[in-house]
Amino acid sequence: MLRICEIFTSIQGESTYAGLPCTFIRLSGCNLRCLYCDTTYAYEEGEDYTIDSLVDEAVRADTEVVEVTGGEPLEQEETPVLLKALLDKGFKKKVLVETNGSKDISVLDPRAIVIMDIKTPGSGEAGSFDLHNIARLKPSDEVKFVLTSREDYEWARSFLQEHDVLLKSEVLFSPAFGSLEPRTLAGWILDDALTVRLNLQLHKYIFKPDERGV
Ligand code: SF4
Repeated sequence: MLRICEIFTSIQGESTYAGLPCTFIRLSGCNLRCLYCDTTYAYEEGEDYTIDSLVDEAVRADTEVVEVTGGEPLEQEETPVLLKALLDKGFKKKVLVETNGSKDISVLDPRAIVIMDIKTPGSGEAGSFDLHNIARLKPSDEVKFVLTSREDYEWARSFLQEHDVLLKSEVLFSPAFGSLEPRTLAGWILDDALTVRLNLQLHKYIFKPDERGV
């Protein structure tokens, strides 16, 4: 049984899968409290679902991409079982899991694609990242830095220099919506010729920034 905050189908807003129709399974609960968190409702809200009923919902939605997100999905013990069940169902689909980076990702089925945050100082949760997760990344996984300021940008740039193995994965630099202008961040990336991808939260531009279930 898993505690689920919401299930919905929308356009994937982030990662290299941005723009694709996606079914989101948002799990309840999170061990962090990021200052820019836009899903605070997921800390507490939720209803219990069986794994089978979640797989059925995903099958019914029939999108190419399914994402298990939160909150923090790895807070719940049965999340790896859900991912395996989704993958065993023979999805032609990609199964993504978005995590805040503080929990061991090696418990996840290797067929799942991990989109892993590394929290910067501007999140208020710098230091939460489990450094062992760097060695656990697969080439298909993606790493995301949400940046609120120039300080965050320089922090992320230094982190990448120190851990350049991360560049074997797709690295996403995402301006925190309302805190850092995408154009400003684009300029910094170009000035430094970084091999990172500018990641906009597409759904916030398509829908209302604080709209739920989109
Ligand atoms: S990890 Fe994600 S869900 Fe948890 S507080 Fe940070 S932004 Fe919110």
